[in-house]
Amino acid sequence: SQILRLTEVSKTYATGSLEVAALREVSFTVEAGEYLAIMGPSGSGKSTLMHILGCLDVPTSGVYELAGQDVTGLSEAELAEIRNARIGFVFQQFNLLPTLSAWRNVALPLCYSGTPAAERRERAVAALERVGLGDRIDHRPGELSGGQQQRVAIARALVTDPSLLLADEPTGNLDSASTEDVLRLLDELNDSGRTIALITHEADVAARARRTLRIRDGRLEDLVTSGVGA
Ligand code: ADP
Ligand code: ADP
Repeated sequence: SQILRLTEVSKTYATGSLEVAALREVSFTVEAGEYLAIMGPSGSGKSTLMHILGCLDVPTSGVYELAGQDVTGLSEAELAEIRNARIGFVFQQFNLLPTLSAWRNVALPLCYSGTPAAERRERAVAALERVGLGDRIDHRPGELSGGQQQRVAIARALVTDPSLLLADEPTGNLDSASTEDVLRLLDELNDSGRTIALITHEADVAARARRTLRIRDGRLEDLVTSGVGA
């Protein structure tokens, strides 16, 4: 089944009398279980696309459907609800709260969905075990390496069982060993059925995905498949 469908999505930013076309009639679909990379140079529209895919912003024109629902015309409150239910976010900066233990960081998204406290801990611990950090549940972010902190962030993104894991330059802050660690984890998550969209400007990171979309000046350039199963 289709998780995402973009149909001629355009995004224009107005700055004073100037208009910047950040996305120009972008169309593509993503099937459940896919691992897609979105690659392009700085200023090509990656962040804008990421914000639309993550329901953080809406297109100026065109249609975005997430899990069969047209989200284009929704209010900010409705978008927030869909975001919490459907999207797991991973960022370059891990965005962990430094005073909270790993499991409390991971449990945070469950606080917004009204999950009972005992279940929150149970699910957070299970998510940390899933990313190989079952022995680090009480560590604070500062007591963990960069690679471990990003794995905590991935556990936090997974704890709500989202339809889509959206990773924006997830290895941008990591050394090569931790980068490999995190990319291997994303491979494993995809192997077990998780749908992933990875945004990056690095070709060797994009090469880990099953399919790469290239974006330049707000337009999709071509379709390149790579990796296993291509
Ligand atoms: P990337 O993430 O690939 O660097 P962006 O999506 O951030 O690309 O930017 C695409 C284009 O849109 C660029 O020309 C950028 O300057 C412009 N842009 C991005 N955000 C804004 C904004 N809030 N206001 C005006 N222009 C913007
Ligand atoms: P990994 O390669 O798995 O990301 P490292 O080899 O960098 O981890 O770290 C090894 C051990 O050192 C880990 O158990 C981690 O908790 C600890 N560690 C790494 N960086 C720090 C740090 N800045 N402060 C405290 N402990 C750290």
